[in-house]
Amino acid sequence: MRRGDEPVLRCPACDDAELEPQRVRGKHTGREIELDRCPRCGGLWFDARELERVLDVAAKDLNVADDAKMSRRRCPVDEAWMFAFAYPQTWANVEMCRKCKGLWLDAEDLVEIEKVRRHLTRKDELDRYAPLTGLKGRIIRAINRSLEELMGGF
Ligand SMILES: [Zn+2]
Ligand SMILES: [Zn+2]
Repeated sequence: MRRGDEPVLRCPACDDAELEPQRVRGKHTGREIELDRCPRCGGLWFDARELERVLDVAAKDLNVADDAKMSRRRCPVDEAWMFAFAYPQTWANVEMCRKCKGLWLDAEDLVEIEKVRRHLTRKDELDRYAPLTGLKGRIIRAINRSLEELMGGF
């Protein structure tokens, strides 16, 4: 079921799969997290509202990292080409839409990022591990905070 009358979102990775909206109770704060998951490939879509909540920053102030490269995938919301950048110290790629500021992670990227997170036992270690300032740092930290809520740990 879609939330309200929001349009159906198609998975950016699969040819013909629809993303399923999910509400997840955060493991740390108990806050409700809204995201969209592809039932076929397991990828996750975080929309700009979710990033705003995590980061406490307006979506208009978020942008794609400077070293991002154009992706071959389109945004599920507005079909703009997304941009991809590496999650530091991993082979995981984060894809982000410049237009709506939504963010996509493939299932294997999530596994890879989780591996790094499990390897580090404390939150400040993770922040040191990815000592990024500016926009990219904020985006990476938003991903970390959301994954903490979804998967637990720390
Ligand atoms: Zn998919
Ligand atoms: Zn978009």
